[in-house]
Amino acid sequence: MYCPNCGAELQNGASFCTYCGTKVAESSAEKEKQSQPVWQDNAHPDSELSDKSKLAAGLLGIFLGGLGVHNFYLGYTGKAVAQLVLGICCLGTVSGIWGLIEGIMILTGSIDCDAKGKKLRE
Ligand SMILES: [Zn+2]
Repeated sequence: MYCPNCGAELQNGASFCTYCGTKVAESSAEKEKQSQPVWQDNAHPDSELSDKSKLAAGLLGIFLGGLGVHNFYLGYTGKAVAQLVLGICCLGTVSGIWGLIEGIMILTGSIDCDAKGKKLRE
């Protein structure tokens, strides 16, 4: 390291310049290391694929679709609540058929992504 005032070469870790007496900023190299951004590998894990399973969503739709469970699972909360309310009001008749159709659509690939637009995994 070098003195910032007179440019004399100093011993590493010296806090004062031995030539001009200027206080040398110690551990500046240390601080530089710490301020470097830490690369985060997990920032976008598997961004292409949903963590939701197509099979699980499809089966939920077929068996519990009348209560909107498959839509809760996929994150379509608004639609899920509508199906849940409809399912309670009509004892699952209308929404049950709705859910059954959506469950089949999920399994056949007609509905192939979750509410975030990510493709469902097989
Ligand atoms: Zn100096």
